[in-house]
Amino acid sequence: MDEIDKTNAQWQEQLTPEQFRVCRECGTEPAFSGEYYDCHEPGIYRCICCGNALFDADSKYDSGSGWPSFVQPVKAENIELSDDDSHGMARVEVSCERCGAHLGHVFPDGPQPTGLRYCINSTSLALDRS
Ligand code: FE
Repeated sequence: MDEIDKTNAQWQEQLTPEQFRVCRECGTEPAFSGEYYDCHEPGIYRCICCGNALFDADSKYDSGSGWPSFVQPVKAENIELSDDDSHGMARVEVSCERCGAHLGHVFPDGPQPTGLRYCINSTSLALDRS
């Protein structure tokens, strides 16, 4: 996969202020505010920054958290996981492998088959409806 490396100025030109805050500054949208937390349409959720395929709607479930929640990514290599100790919590950050966009966090309290909950900001996603 070709990695995308843009300056903040370039991202600011391409993204809305809210998309920039969430994706490039590790922001979080308020719960129950995003476009996709209650979306049940089929398709592929892509990175709003670079179009990388991130999550299939088939793997989405209603976690009740107020954020889009998935049990697994489209492909493990399309995302990157890293330790995030900010805000006094030990969490695992999920970002886009291709462009480095902050997507959300993954928690070990999801349903089977993976037992994982990828808790993702709607702001960082664009649903490619199928
Ligand atoms: Fe991306």
